[in-house]
Amino acid sequence: MAIDFGKRMGMGGLRLPVKDPMNPMSIDMEQLKKNVDYFMEHGFNYFDTAYIYHGELSEGAYGEAVVDRYPRDSFLLSTKMPVKQMNSADQMEPIFEEQLRRCHVDYFDFYLVHCVSRDTYERCKKWGVFEFLKKKREEGKFREFGVSLHDSPEFLEEILTEHPEIDFVMEQINYLDWTNPSIRSKEVYEMAMKYNKPVVVMESCKGGTLANLPDEAVKLMKEYNPHASVAFWAYRFVGSLPGVRVCLCGMPTEEFLKDDVATFEDFKPLNDEEYRILEKVVEIVNAKTPIPCTQCRYCEPKCPKKIAIPDYFALYNDLKRLPVDEVMTQAMYYGSLIEQGHGPASACVNCKSCEKQCPQHLEITEYLKWVVKDIEQYDPMAQIEKMKAAAKEG
Ligand code: SF4
Ligand code: SF4
Repeated sequence: MAIDFGKRMGMGGLRLPVKDPMNPMSIDMEQLKKNVDYFMEHGFNYFDTAYIYHGELSEGAYGEAVVDRYPRDSFLLSTKMPVKQMNSADQMEPIFEEQLRRCHVDYFDFYLVHCVSRDTYERCKKWGVFEFLKKKREEGKFREFGVSLHDSPEFLEEILTEHPEIDFVMEQINYLDWTNPSIRSKEVYEMAMKYNKPVVVMESCKGGTLANLPDEAVKLMKEYNPHASVAFWAYRFVGSLPGVRVCLCGMPTEEFLKDDVATFEDFKPLNDEEYRILEKVVEIVNAKTPIPCTQCRYCEPKCPKKIAIPDYFALYNDLKRLPVDEVMTQAMYYGSLIEQGHGPASACVNCKSCEKQCPQHLEITEYLKWVVKDIEQYDPMAQIEKMKAAAKEG
């Protein structure tokens, strides 16, 4: 039976509403239920999650907010096997069963191997992960089988050639990464098309980066369409691509949710002029975003020094977008993270465990040195003296 994908937008389970923005485990269940209701009322039906999201609480949150409150045939549920985080083949069966229990279902609609990298793929071969999942699909434990990856088109081709049983691919697509030489999302998308695999898109807003653009870029967009939000452009870029089955959107707030729903409810592909505007926006954003971190937080649990890597990078990127004297505010936020028990950027021992986890292949250790130089070593007293001197002159 053909699957009805609703209006081609899915609710992403990596960025659910939280009570404390610094604590991903503080999921705001009441807000999530309201979001789910609004989403369903507007004809959307796709929910994506994974074992590891929100400190392993995301699947259970959907169990409570979606599965317990809606008939099973009224929504589509997708989750992923955390092969990267597993230690042996023995864990496959118990983890799969645990996921069914957490989600309160007896089958998933879609099941993926999460974040397939060279290392993960080797484990999949050694442990027989694909064979295990083929069997689960035959048993009716899920309907379609996919892989999510942040890797090269050549690697995707290798996987699709060796495993034609894969039904679909989940990949990172957004207008900023489309021709980015280290991410190559256009080429990865084209490879999926070559093998006739539908694509589910993640990171279409690049972890919120494309909803929070420099003023110069926002001005360009608003001059063309004063009523559209900046995120609207990001989702329309992805939705305009043929072969994209569903675009996953993080909806941590009601504002995001309503904007996303409005974009996909009455979807219009981008026109030539809009594509040209986006090209200019990419130039502006690239010039102003020094660390292309998507805030996925995969690196953080691996750090023996508890360094709040994504938070420090977000502070750094904001610092470069804000006026120079805002460094004091950034330094205060930085200080409060250290007070909460995180290691400072300078505590990095260069073990590179974090870099092995990073789907964006960032040189985290190098970027941490920038954080040390521009935020950690910032001296508030010197800044105050500078401000006093400027006031006197004024
Ligand atoms: S390289 Fe540094 S930041 Fe990365 S895990 Fe090791 S100590 Fe933590
Ligand atoms: S540094 Fe990499 S792994 Fe860590 S949050 Fe950023 S993108 Fe994700």
